[in-house]
Amino acid sequence: MQPTSSMPFSYESFPTAGVVAYFSMEAAIDPAMPTYSGGLGVLAGDTLRSAADLGVPLVAFTLTHRKGYFQQHLDRRGVQSEDVQPWNPADFCTEEAARITVSVEDRTVTVRAWRYDLVGRYGHVVPIYLLDTDVDGNSGWDRGLTDHLYGGDTNYRLQQEIVLGMGGVRMANALGHRVNVYHMNEGHAALLTLALVESHLGGGPLGVPTEADLALVRQKCVFTTHTPVPAGHDRFSTEQTIRILGGDRTARLEKLGCYRDGMLNLTLLALKFSRYANGVAMQHAKVSQAMFPEFPIASITNGVHAPTWVSEPIQQLLDANIEGWRRDNLYLRNAIDLPEKEILAAHARAKEVLLAEVGTRSGLVLDPKALTLGFARRVATYKRATLLFTDPERLVEIANAAGGLQIIYAGKAHPQDEPGKALIQKVVEDAQKYNSSLLKIVYLENYAWELGALLTAGVDVWVNTPKRPYEASGTSGMKAALNGVPSLSILDGWWIEGCIEGVTGWAIEDGDTDDQEATSLYKKLEQAVVPHYLKAPEEWARLMRTTLAFNGSYFNTNRMVKQYTRNAYYPVKLIERAKVEEVEFA
Ligand SMILES: *Cc1c(COP(=O)(O)O)cnc(C)c1O
Repeated sequence: MQPTSSMPFSYESFPTAGVVAYFSMEAAIDPAMPTYSGGLGVLAGDTLRSAADLGVPLVAFTLTHRKGYFQQHLDRRGVQSEDVQPWNPADFCTEEAARITVSVEDRTVTVRAWRYDLVGRYGHVVPIYLLDTDVDGNSGWDRGLTDHLYGGDTNYRLQQEIVLGMGGVRMANALGHRVNVYHMNEGHAALLTLALVESHLGGGPLGVPTEADLALVRQKCVFTTHTPVPAGHDRFSTEQTIRILGGDRTARLEKLGCYRDGMLNLTLLALKFSRYANGVAMQHAKVSQAMFPEFPIASITNGVHAPTWVSEPIQQLLDANIEGWRRDNLYLRNAIDLPEKEILAAHARAKEVLLAEVGTRSGLVLDPKALTLGFARRVATYKRATLLFTDPERLVEIANAAGGLQIIYAGKAHPQDEPGKALIQKVVEDAQKYNSSLLKIVYLENYAWELGALLTAGVDVWVNTPKRPYEASGTSGMKAALNGVPSLSILDGWWIEGCIEGVTGWAIEDGDTDDQEATSLYKKLEQAVVPHYLKAPEEWARLMRTTLAFNGSYFNTNRMVKQYTRNAYYPVKLIERAKVEEVEFA
C-alpha cells in the first residue's frame, strides 16, 4: 500500500513505494479478541496502533488463535484453572479470498487470512492479517494449528512458526503487497527468512543459495529480540527440524550456522538474516549483545500507545491543557505545568473506577484514601510476585504507619507453569492471612487488556520486582507513568532509563539475594513512598506531574515507531543509496 492523498497526515512522506511487513506471534488488536498473552502481544498491538496514527505504510501478520489465550479461574485457595476462550474471527475481520500453502512434515497445509483494518487517528489503515489453517481440505490436526497461542509442545510450536513465517511471506505476495522490509518481532517469525531465500531462488526447494542471494534477503530483514536469557529463545532439535521442516532445509540451515548445541536457534537464524537487530531497552541490547557477540545489536526502547492507556479523566485533563498530545506525544513534557489540584482530581476519579471494579469482582470494599499499590503481570517466577511478603510483619508495620495500605494483584500463569501457579496460590494465601483493617490485599482473576488499563491508571504506585536481568523491558510501568502514576521497581529493563529517584518513582536497590532486595523494597516504602504519600497532597501532585512529563513523553510507541522507521526500516543511508543508484528500495 502506498501513501495516498486519502491520508491527510503521515509522519514523513516515505521516499519509496511498498510496505513494511510486521510479523508477530501475538498481537493485542482489540480487547474483545483474545489473540495475545502478555507484554509481547500488547507491544505488537501498540506498535500497530502508532504506525496507523503516524501513517507508516505497514501491514502485519499474526495467527488467528481461534481458541484464544485462556480464561483464568482462581478458586478460594488461589488454585488456577483454565478455560479456552474461543472467538469468531468473522465477527471482527474480513476473510481474504487468497489461499496459500506451506509444507509441514510431509503434508501440504492450506492457509487463509482474516483481515482486520486498524484505522489510525487520521484515517490511515494498517491491515492486520490473521493466518488461519482451519480450512476445508486440511486434516483435523492441521486445522488446529492456529488454535492455541503458546499451547501444545515444541512440535506444535515449530509447525505454527512455519505457518506464521513462511505462510506470512507467501500470503503477503498472494495479496499483492510489495514488501520493502520484513520485521520479525521476536524469533517466532524467523522462518520467514527461509521463505524469502526459497522464493528468491525461484520457489523451489532451498537449492544452493550464494552469498549474494543471502545478502539480498538480509537487505530486507530487521529483527527485534525480546528475550534476555538463552532459555527464552525458541530452539528445536535436529530430529524435529528434519521431521517437520525437512532434510534439505535442515542441512542448509546447519551449513549456515543456525544451530547451536545441536539445536536450531531461531534467534540466531533471525540475526544471521537481518541487516538490523535491536533489543527493547538499552540494558537489554547490551545483554543480548553479550549473548551474540558476532552481531551488532542496537537498542530501541519499548513504549506504549498513549491514547490506549491513558484513563478517561487524565485524557480530559490533557485535552484541556496540552494541545496535540495525541498526535505527538513529545508535547506531554508540558505536563510539568498541569494544575496540581486537577491532576489529583483526575487520578482520584481513575482510582474510584478501579476500586469499583475491585468491588464488583471480589466483593472487597477498598478505601479511596488509602495508599494503593498495583502488581499485575504475567506470573513468571522471575517476576517474584511474592517478594512483598518476604517479611509480612514488616509489611503490616508499613500499613500501620501509612494509616492503611492496599495491594491489588492480578496475573495469569502459563497453564504449564507449575511454579508460577504455586506463586499465585502463595499470594492468595498470604492475602487471607494478613488481611486486616489496615492492610488489604486482593488478587483479581483474569488479568487482560482492560483490567490492565484500570490498574495502571487507578493505583497510586506501580510495583515491579523482577530478578535482574530477566526483564527485557516491561511496559506496564510505562502505562502507569502516562497516567502520572510513579513506579517502585527493581532497576531492570526500561526502569534503568525511566527512574529519576523521587521524581518519577523510586528504585529498589540491587542486592545479591531476594532477601536483600526485599529489605530494600521495605526501606523504600518506609522512607520514601509512605512519607511522600502522607505529605501535603500538592507534593504528590508534583510527583505525578514529573512522572507524566518525563516518562509519558518518552516511553510511548509514538516515539518508538519513529525510531523503528528511521533507524531500522528506512535509515537515511539506505534511502540515499537507493536514490543515487535509482534502484528499488532495499
Ligand atoms: C501491558 C501489559 C503487559 C505487559 O506488562 P509487563 O510490564 O511487561 O509485565 C502484560 N499483560 C497485559 C494484559 C498488559 O496490559
